[in-house]
Amino acid sequence: MTSIDTEHFRDALLEERQRVEHAIATLRAEHPGSLDDEVEEVNASAAGDHLADTATATLGREIDYTLGDNAEQVLSEIDAALTRIEEGTYGICVNCGDEIPPERLEANPWASLCIDCKRKAEGG
Ligand SMILES: [Zn+2]
Repeated sequence: MTSIDTEHFRDALLEERQRVEHAIATLRAEHPGSLDDEVEEVNASAAGDHLADTATATLGREIDYTLGDNAEQVLSEIDAALTRIEEGTYGICVNCGDEIPPERLEANPWASLCIDCKRKAEGG
């Protein structure tokens, strides 16, 4: 057992889950077409302007896709965290078994790794 208030984090996770699901739905609703369509629209509305506008639109599109990918990733991590709450392993680093500091969970309720393991994972 840990000293972590799982009820509090369950609420935070469920709230975040709704927000992420909404973000994914919004993202899909806003971008049903292809990238070519979007660039053409920008060119038509900004007639006479130079290429920078097209570049900006393309860049924004790429960022949107990245956000979409991240959102789906976060969604699966939130689900995994909710499962860990059910199993009583929430707040335990899945790699080394150490307790994840509550302040880290406050910032990132679906964190599955302690800061050390996260650093190692990101460092390759
Ligand atoms: Zn760890």
